[in-house]
Amino acid sequence: MAKRVALFPSKLEIPELEKSVLEFWKKDDTFKKSVDQRPLDKQYVFYDGPPFATGMPHAGHLLGSTSKDLIPRYWTMKGYRVERIWGWDCHGLPIENMIEGQLNLKGGKKQIEELGIDVFNQACRSEVLRLDSEWERVIERIGRWVDFDNNYKTMDTSYMESVWWGFQQMNEKGLVYEGKKVILYCPRCSTPLSNFEIAMDNSYSTVTDWATTYKYKVVGQENTYLLAWSTTPWNKLATPALAVNPDLQYVTVEQNGEKYILAESRLSMLHEKPEYKVVEKHLGSELTALKFEPHYDFYPNRTENERIGVLVADSFVTDDEGTGVVTLAVYGEDDYRVMQKENIQIVEHVDDEGKLKPEVKPWAGMFILKVNDKVNEDLEARNLIYANVKYTHSVAECYRCKTRLYYAPLPAWFIDIQKLKPDLIAANENISWYPGHLKHGRFGKGLETAPDWNISRSRYWGTPIPIWRSKEGQDRVIGSIEELKRWAVDQEAAKNVTDIHRENIDSIEVWVDDAKTIVGRRVPEVFDCWVESGSMPYASRHYPFENKELFEKTYPAQFVSEYIAQTRAWFYTMHVISVAIFGGNAVENTLTTGTIMAADGSKMSKSKRNFTDPMEIVEKMGADSFRLYLMSSPVMRSENINFNEKEISDIRKKVFVIWYNCLSFYKLYRPSESLSGLVTTKPKHILDRWILSRTHTLISEITEALDNYDTVSSSRQLMAFITEISTWYLRRSRDRFRVEDNQEGLDVFGTVLALMSQLFAPVAPFFSEFVHSQVVDADGSVHLTDWPEALPELQDQKLESDMTNIRVIVEKVHAARAEAGIKLRQPLAKIQVTAPYAEADPEVIQVLLDEINVKEVIWTKEDNADLSVVLDTVLTPDLEAEGQARELIRNIQVLRKQSGLGRDDAATVSVPSIPEKWQKEIELKTKVKLVLGDEMGLVAKE
Ligand SMILES: [Zn+2]
Repeated sequence: MAKRVALFPSKLEIPELEKSVLEFWKKDDTFKKSVDQRPLDKQYVFYDGPPFATGMPHAGHLLGSTSKDLIPRYWTMKGYRVERIWGWDCHGLPIENMIEGQLNLKGGKKQIEELGIDVFNQACRSEVLRLDSEWERVIERIGRWVDFDNNYKTMDTSYMESVWWGFQQMNEKGLVYEGKKVILYCPRCSTPLSNFEIAMDNSYSTVTDWATTYKYKVVGQENTYLLAWSTTPWNKLATPALAVNPDLQYVTVEQNGEKYILAESRLSMLHEKPEYKVVEKHLGSELTALKFEPHYDFYPNRTENERIGVLVADSFVTDDEGTGVVTLAVYGEDDYRVMQKENIQIVEHVDDEGKLKPEVKPWAGMFILKVNDKVNEDLEARNLIYANVKYTHSVAECYRCKTRLYYAPLPAWFIDIQKLKPDLIAANENISWYPGHLKHGRFGKGLETAPDWNISRSRYWGTPIPIWRSKEGQDRVIGSIEELKRWAVDQEAAKNVTDIHRENIDSIEVWVDDAKTIVGRRVPEVFDCWVESGSMPYASRHYPFENKELFEKTYPAQFVSEYIAQTRAWFYTMHVISVAIFGGNAVENTLTTGTIMAADGSKMSKSKRNFTDPMEIVEKMGADSFRLYLMSSPVMRSENINFNEKEISDIRKKVFVIWYNCLSFYKLYRPSESLSGLVTTKPKHILDRWILSRTHTLISEITEALDNYDTVSSSRQLMAFITEISTWYLRRSRDRFRVEDNQEGLDVFGTVLALMSQLFAPVAPFFSEFVHSQVVDADGSVHLTDWPEALPELQDQKLESDMTNIRVIVEKVHAARAEAGIKLRQPLAKIQVTAPYAEADPEVIQVLLDEINVKEVIWTKEDNADLSVVLDTVLTPDLEAEGQARELIRNIQVLRKQSGLGRDDAATVSVPSIPEKWQKEIELKTKVKLVLGDEMGLVAKE
């Protein structure tokens, strides 16, 4: 039974055509066939970064999906087995926040726990994939082949169990530690965020705060104050120390009857009140002898060693801004480090929801940003503020809930990146990056400066961290469900565990010692969901519990492709986890795209409605045009582009409409849908030899480009080739095909169309399938064919460059004719060409003469000459007669068309005069018999 893609349509409707191709693929099961027909032991492995399913796919996803489709289709045609399984990222804050909104949980973690983790997680579970069929529809429509049916989900028990195993491995290698670290923290989500989450796009906003210069009274010196500058009034409530730079020059100045100490280079801070006098100078290191009176005493000394009201020196203090004196509180990374080093009192006066603790009596329970004004009012009233000015700066915000983040000291588990760093850097050497500058640029530099990775989250919907801890602090790390059952205190309770989300295992106690005498409970945290996506290579295969041999044989993968921000996110986390567990890189080739911006260069934003839904464009102009637009654009070299709908419509016209027209012309003479083999020997006609040579040169060029993951150059060359076929090969060949029974020419043309459909197949899978079905095989798929090989014996460099040269001359002649007002139908005697290259071969010159309608070319080669063309515009009576004959041919052809004559219908046409010398040729070319009459007209049809 025929499965043909489509009958040849008399009118081109690209979206309809693409839908018929989709139908064909479905009926034919082409994707599965394309994978299955390649050998198991010749794999090209592709890892897909799993998307969150909480929103609809946008232009960026379509970009990623197109490159994730193009490259695997290419390698499939090259003979490799490229399995493609869809994955879903299910856990993490995005979905938790969505559920909190849906359940109207405004009370943060407290309210979730009151509701019950089981209820909350069930709500997450049932909502997480609600858009999956929408995704599938979109991904399918743009022509991406991927197996949705056997997808993996990061919330699958098998996936989570592998993540446990991976963590146990890293722990056994001493790469995991528990610590307290000052990290960016979202008080609304009550969870820390890792640096790469912030480094991803859109996690900063610009705000205007008060920047305050505070006065700290120096103990034992009358009317003398240290001036310290800060934008966070709320942490002035617990500022036990100040810091200066040991090597900076500081001064004491007199102003308004008071003395102030600040850095000499920051005297401009006094410019509002310019009359001051410098009375003393000190090096920063000398100032550490000073003590000051803290503004508040909510936290008195607890031990003798604990220091309060002291000045310390550390090089992190700079004179870039402020006064060169900074306040120290635990809510800063450097602050915390210096405070620990200097035995400064460490207290946290803010709870895990960003509210002041009960000890801060007047303002207990207030959110920190709300208390800022109150603190400054209070200090102003106590004359402890020197100046207060508006200050605009950029601050980090939670990428999900947009709450402003602050640095907080938190207990957390870390992957020791510092220990792993030399290995991370070394393994990067084995990865090829596209574009190449990312290797030692954005990615490599990122590795060098990477901080330790905080992998714990105080949340609910995630893979629980498998550490069970006794009251005394003894730990057992569990690496599988089997181990959990083995060490569970209540064997009965553990027996039926099939899902390892928090609600199912938090209550299970585990023996933390091998003698089974000490009971431990699980620590409450879950993993950062980036641990899960970074574990995708092995966890999606449930390694090592299943697929052991398969995974080990196919690791590392050959290819990943994501957008640039993933260099700091998924590319990074996958690299870390791979190096930590398996000692090497996870992938060999990384193709990184840029970001698609709205047409005006701003970020695409649903709320601003500054872009057209990409699927609307696909429905209008076709997925192939959309794909070719993306793959040929600099966004594939990780540059940002402004989305340009017009370019897509241009590609539709200049590539697919023209390609269709070429195909129609071919089908006119050869309607057959099965080519009887490709032409593999040099044909006779010069134009056929040329187009075949060009095609084979193109095969080499496209292959080289795609081997190097350069979709931009391959796509652009393919597009240019369509123009070459139509504006040169076909333009110069029409008459040959019309007049003669030109089997060889048609064989060549068919060969070119067949090879072209293969070269286009990875980037424009729909139209190339259609062409294949029309030219080569009505029931087969171009995607099941082997990638074509360039035949050197058909390539003729001299011919190609001759042809390129004469095409430049053609342009010049056409321009000179237009200038002289001589129509192309009027033959000319000769032209003179002066060129820096030698005269083309005679056969090529004949093509030139035919095109420009000139009898002779006189060619002079001058080494350093610019190309110049001079027309001989003298018209002899013979030339004029020939010009009239050509005019007549054209008019008769117009008449034939108007009279509705078919291509082969003979007819008799009357004309006022018959140019005797040309009668035969006119009658042959127009397929009419000429008779004399008063005016031109159709006399008879036969
Ligand atoms: Zn948040």
